[in-house]
Amino acid sequence: MKLGELRPCDACGGPLCANLTFLEVRLQLRALRVEKARRFAGMAAYFGGGRRGEALAGHFVDDDDAAPDVGDPDVLLLCPGCWPTALQELAAERRRAAALREQLEGARRCAARPDMPCGYEDALGTPPGDLKPDAGGD
Ligand SMILES: [Zn+2]
Repeated sequence: MKLGELRPCDACGGPLCANLTFLEVRLQLRALRVEKARRFAGMAAYFGGGRRGEALAGHFVDDDDAAPDVGDPDVLLLCPGCWPTALQELAAERRRAAALREQLEGARRCAARPDMPCGYEDALGTPPGDLKPDAGGD
């Protein structure tokens, strides 16, 4: 980063680096390629689900670029007075993402055992029967 790129804190508008440090946060919007995600989830379920199923699925499903960038990243510059609050908010967002991940994991378990309803059937917006390893696509 060059000195000319410095600007006031994006949260409070105050001086960015009163004690010579500041925080740069890059936010990148990404779009999930649903067909790749479904193929991966189906293959992971085929291999028994969980981390082991996902690891094995990673050897058989091309998931490169499964969530490409959308647009340019947004860069926030935060002063030391603002970054604790910003980091707390980011941590809360990670917890929400972890809860969503658990919900998706439940949906994968449903895909592995369509004979046993588990309450996660609608999490992927797809009937579990469509999550088969050989489901079409490119
Ligand atoms: Zn600030």
